[in-house]
Amino acid sequence: MTEEAENDDSLLIRLPVIEDCSGCSACCQRTPVPPFYPGEEAVLNVPDDLLDAVRERIAADQQFELLPCVWLDMDAGLCRHYELRPKACRDFQTGSDLCRLSRWDEGLDR
Ligand code: SF4
Ligand code: SF4
Repeated sequence: MTEEAENDDSLLIRLPVIEDCSGCSACCQRTPVPPFYPGEEAVLNVPDDLLDAVRERIAADQQFELLPCVWLDMDAGLCRHYELRPKACRDFQTGSDLCRLSRWDEGLDR
C-alpha cells in the first residue's frame, strides 16, 4: 500500500457517510469534460453543438484537473445535459470512496 493510499484510508474513516447529492457537485467540479468513452457521444446521439464546449476545452489544453465540467451549471450545481451524461457519470456512486474524497478535495466535509 502506498503512503498516499494509507492517507486516503485514514481520511475516509473521518469523512461522513453520504447518501444523496443535495447541494453537491464536487465530482463534476473535478471532471473538466464529460468523460465519454471513445464513440459514446454517437451512441448517445449527443447533438453536435453540445460538443463544441468539449472540443474547445480539449483544444485549449488547460490544466484539466482544476476545472469544472463544461456541462456543469455552476449556479444550480447540476448537469445541464443530464440525460446525455456519459456512462462514467451514471456509474459514479454517491457515497463511494471517490465521492467522499471528491467532496473533501472540493472543501466540503472539512
Ligand atoms: S461528489 Fe458524491 S455527493 Fe457530490 S455530486 Fe458527486 S456523487 Fe453526489
Ligand atoms: S454529470 Fe454532467 S456535469 Fe457532471 S461530469 Fe458528467 S457530464 Fe459533466
